[in-house]
Amino acid sequence: MQELSTTLLVVGGGPGGYVAAIRAAQLGIATTLVEGEALGGTCLNVGCIPSKALIHAAEEFEKVTHCIGGSALGIRVESSRLDLAQTVRWKDGIVKRLTGGVAALLKRSGVNVVKGWARIVDGKSVEVVVGGEPVRIGCEHLLLAAGSEPLSLPTLPFGGSVIDAAEALSPEALPERLLVVGAGYIGLELGTAYRKFGCEVSVVEAAPQVLPSYDEELTRPVVAALQRMGVHLHLGCSVQGPSANGHAVRVRDAHGEESEHEADRVLVAVGRRPRTEGWGLETLRLDMDGRAVRVDDQCSTSMRNVWAIGDLTGEPMLAHRAMAQGELVAEIIAGQRRRFLPAAIPAVCFTDPELVVVGMTPASAAQAGLDCVDAVFPFSANGRAMTLESSVGFVRVVARRDDHLIVGWQAVGRSVSELSAAFSHSIEMGARLEDAAGTIHAHPTLGEALQEAALRALGRPLHV
Ligand code: FAD
Ligand code: NAD
Repeated sequence: MQELSTTLLVVGGGPGGYVAAIRAAQLGIATTLVEGEALGGTCLNVGCIPSKALIHAAEEFEKVTHCIGGSALGIRVESSRLDLAQTVRWKDGIVKRLTGGVAALLKRSGVNVVKGWARIVDGKSVEVVVGGEPVRIGCEHLLLAAGSEPLSLPTLPFGGSVIDAAEALSPEALPERLLVVGAGYIGLELGTAYRKFGCEVSVVEAAPQVLPSYDEELTRPVVAALQRMGVHLHLGCSVQGPSANGHAVRVRDAHGEESEHEADRVLVAVGRRPRTEGWGLETLRLDMDGRAVRVDDQCSTSMRNVWAIGDLTGEPMLAHRAMAQGELVAEIIAGQRRRFLPAAIPAVCFTDPELVVVGMTPASAAQAGLDCVDAVFPFSANGRAMTLESSVGFVRVVARRDDHLIVGWQAVGRSVSELSAAFSHSIEMGARLEDAAGTIHAHPTLGEALQEAALRALGRPLHV
């Protein structure tokens, strides 16, 4: 068997693994990265990027369709038609450019990329089959970045018309009726996109509200928009399995009443689980947190010089968290003193309107025993929002009552994902309400709502 050795061995080339490898190589660490499927991982190939591409395409299609017969802006089109194959090709083109970019960055940094599935031998070596030949790679540091996989439902296993997000991102044809199970991130982002492409969409959610991890004040405009679009929401319901003829799904509501919902395709999006099985991870007998690999604030596992990052380590399963952890581990291995203690990890849901949560909400601050003030500034009072035909939603700030330290920002509205940078920055920098209120914000921008929310929290709003 061929034997290789390296200082750092990274298993998994998703956003966590490839960022760790690039940073480690920049710091002069001999680094090998093993990827079984495609560089860029879930995020670039079947997650963040293709989903946002599809969402954008759906938005554009809906905009054009909306102009049939004339719009308030005076734009009139005669008809609209979707060339789905071209849409998917365009999306795939973006994925190809980005994954190619990752390959180039790894090469330029001097990372040795091995294509194949790694099987753990022990905490210092893995085996990979490369071109039919087994290769053993030994290392000083082993970084586990194997990501996650979709959860399946025993009553509706994947296969045939029951699909996961990856399949939903590359449809050969659009279903007439799509049933989505799970009103979380994937269910609502992709459910909205399919609706905008013209499909009938129904969503079945076990919890009594959509996006249960967000508070109801934030999700209310999203629910209103879904209803306006004609998405059928079935909350507090559970799926029982396919109907006898196989063309429908049996759904039980909170009162125990059963009904059948016809669907040509069923997207199951009920969460993801760390990819901990099938590649010998169990041989390391690492401490676990449920299904996730347990790590400390340096991303160190219970075994010395074995590190873990990203979705493999559990919630929040977000690409930017994985990347930040990857960079941190590389720097620790290079001898730097680092801890993974972010003041906040932003969460964005790309529904229409979009949602952003950074730091504490009024409820989570109260739960943590903090005495806080909070204030909301509505986009209905923001000039830029009006010019974008989008005065739905608001920005909310949460700050300590005593010293006005900002502990949280939330927003719901069109394009508010872009405000997440300002929100996260202000919290990481320890900004106070006076800092946000005293910063000159460009006019007319949505960002002015951030300044106005801070002014309102200080009791001196200007535009409401
Ligand atoms: P992954 O990206 O899953 O990468 C792990 C890699 O390891 C994979 O390439 C896999 O092939 C490889 N691998 C696994 N086992 C082995 C092995 N034994 N040997 C070799 N290689 C192996 N997050 C956001 O922040 N924003 C979003 O907008 C967003 N949208 C999403 C949309 C969808 C539809 C989905 C499914 C996810 C989305 N996510 C989003 C989540 C995001 O994709 C993940 O949090 C992120 O990809 C996790 O990165 P990772 O490096 O931990 O794992
Ligand atoms: P999720 O956790 O966001 O949502 C799953 C939903 O399914 C929840 O609302 C849950 O109550 C519901 N559910 C669970 N079991 C159910 C059942 N049997 N019947 C009906 N409903 C049920 O999970 P997801 O949408 O699959 O996304 C997976 C992960 O991917 C997310 O947690 C997130 O970390 C990541 N992601 C992030 C983004 C983003 O950042 N914009 C987008 C997509 C995915």
